[in-house]
Amino acid sequence: MDHILAEFVDVCKKLYERKYVVGSGGNVSIKVGNLVFITPTGHILGFMEKEKICIVDMDGDILKGKPTSELNMHLKIYKNRKDVNAIVHTHCMYCTAFSNIDKEIKLITPEGQLFIRKIDYIDYYPCGSMELAEAVSGSEESAIVLKNHGLVTVGETIFEAYLKTEVVEELAQMNYIIHNMIK
Ligand code: 13P
Ligand code: ZN
Repeated sequence: MDHILAEFVDVCKKLYERKYVVGSGGNVSIKVGNLVFITPTGHILGFMEKEKICIVDMDGDILKGKPTSELNMHLKIYKNRKDVNAIVHTHCMYCTAFSNIDKEIKLITPEGQLFIRKIDYIDYYPCGSMELAEAVSGSEESAIVLKNHGLVTVGETIFEAYLKTEVVEELAQMNYIIHNMIK
């Protein structure tokens, strides 16, 4: 268990170092059996420590800490998708910019084509709302762009979910570059 939580902390720090989140944006979770380990609300991911990770069970009972305001979104994804054990939610710059102009991010890199089958796009719902949780958990894809908000990626492991964020954000940046080159 210790190494899984160490990986959890590493991923939180990397998300912040790579500026996929700024301030207290974003949240991360992993599911281990009936338990969900999840980031606290309002916490800067770059300053994450093992002791600060909240624990919730799959019924939504809070066993430790004050979990993210997107707890319902994380729990609903785990309930709907048995293949998912980890979730990364960020406000990464290029994906979020694309989400604001209703433009699709094309899968133009080999990593994008091999690793991300398809990017899903959902309508705008307020942060932390049940409507947002319903919409995101209804997707069958592993990369979901949230209109005027950010990105959710999921995986079997936390590292896989993290890598998908990395790949999709780079795709978004490359789409932006190409768009400007051919103007
Ligand atoms: P939390 O600090 O509650 O996790 O909220 C951050 C966020 O990204 C909301 O969508
Ligand atoms: Zn958010």
